[in-house]
Amino acid sequence: MSAPAHSDKKYLFRLHKPREECGLFGIAGSSDAAAHTALGLHALQHRGQESAGIVSFDGKRFYNERELGLVGDIFGDPAVIARLKGSCSIGHVRYSTTGETIKRNIQPLFAELGCGGFAVAHNGNLTNGRALRRDLVRRGCLFQSTTDTEVIIGLMAVSGQPSVVDRLADALRQVEGAYSLVALTEGSVIGVRDPLGVRPLVLGKLGGAYMLASETCALDIIGAEFVRDVSPGEMVVLDANGLTCHNPFPVQPRRFCIFEHIYFARPDSVVEGTSVYDARTRIGRELARESHVPADVVIPVPDSGVPAAIGYAAEAKVPFELGIIRNHYVGRTFIEPTDHIRHLGVKLKHNTNRARIAGKRVILVDDSIVRGTTSIKIVEMVRSAGATQVHMRISSPPTTHSCFYGIDTPERDKLMAARQTIDEMTKTIGVDSLAFISIDGLYRAMGMRGRDANRPQFCDACFTGEYPIPLTDRDGGSLQPQLSLLSGSG
Ligand code: AMP
Repeated sequence: MSAPAHSDKKYLFRLHKPREECGLFGIAGSSDAAAHTALGLHALQHRGQESAGIVSFDGKRFYNERELGLVGDIFGDPAVIARLKGSCSIGHVRYSTTGETIKRNIQPLFAELGCGGFAVAHNGNLTNGRALRRDLVRRGCLFQSTTDTEVIIGLMAVSGQPSVVDRLADALRQVEGAYSLVALTEGSVIGVRDPLGVRPLVLGKLGGAYMLASETCALDIIGAEFVRDVSPGEMVVLDANGLTCHNPFPVQPRRFCIFEHIYFARPDSVVEGTSVYDARTRIGRELARESHVPADVVIPVPDSGVPAAIGYAAEAKVPFELGIIRNHYVGRTFIEPTDHIRHLGVKLKHNTNRARIAGKRVILVDDSIVRGTTSIKIVEMVRSAGATQVHMRISSPPTTHSCFYGIDTPERDKLMAARQTIDEMTKTIGVDSLAFISIDGLYRAMGMRGRDANRPQFCDACFTGEYPIPLTDRDGGSLQPQLSLLSGSG
């Protein structure tokens, strides 16, 4: 029997989760540029599983390979890597933050500009991309993709600046939103972070080659050393002269995305000077200090809840157990063979480890509740494995607002915490008690005295509704985070 067509969504089980954002890698001056880039992207696969692409330059021409699918499937073939010639390359893994899954949206995007060939890959989301695009179309610009990233190319195309670096800076001064970018020109690899530094980007070095990556885990995989974070608003140019830094934007207080620490980044990465694993365990400790109840066992919802649960259990002095086991081989989509199977609500991803649960008062630790789907399923499972009590502890404050800066969250009315009080959520999820870390507790775990209401140190809009960058497209129209024609890049 042949598999149903991809478009036949009826037969596709999609995990009921919001989706990841994007991952970036770029390297200059390496005899193995494409292979290093593929390995870097492999380490960043958790940031996007929809598509991957690499563009390289060998001093004469650009080469590109972009496909839907996972990095290993696309770049595992040495023949594909061999086609990507040259000592400079950039790459991208993508899970679109909005919009369609189409091949022409796969990054890096490429264009021939007046100043030469230019490829760019973007992590984040522009909040005035739609308005800029309308204007560019009116001025005669052609667009081939529906990603907001192409607006940056459009702005560069019409810029009067002479050099590619100046054109890029000129374009970025007109965009609003969150972005980390890696770009490839006919002689350099460029990395930029938006002025608030919402999305991550780090600089590394291997021998004589400099590289850029979303997270340090992508440096580790190729044995590169971590040099430093690219600063908010900084543009770094890697070329034959080594490394040059530019600061084309006025300095602003940094507002790194706190959700990277809570959920997105890999726990073995060091982000903005902080080990993600350590941050998560400290958040778990703080959560225990704020809301512990008597219990027999602390169980994480794997994998993302594990470090916080370790911290919670240590602080509460309650045994930590792997009471839920995750199947790591579940793809993003799974074709359910029959209606009967579909209605079973199969435990595709998680199963309980009964012996560790039966007869026990359980504290379940997860990093976030978005729609609530995961929690409802997990709690049902833990109860049917014989738990006498189930208390849920969440290592983030309630997610009450959508992200417009590159993390894929559903529209506000689909967020459980935007629609229900904690008491209502407790009933809906079916737990004996439910508690989230407080916003001040979260900041304390990050090493601060609490959230400075006048000058918050992170972007925490998903928990507070305080958006640090204007939402021009949303406020000027009816743009929903997931429903615009113009896709986010991830
Ligand atoms: P939900 O089932 O919608 O409540 O989603 C909550 C679960 O999704 C938690 O277990 C999180 O680990 C995970 N999660 C939270 N935010 C995201 C995101 N933006 N993308 C993917 N997964 C997420």
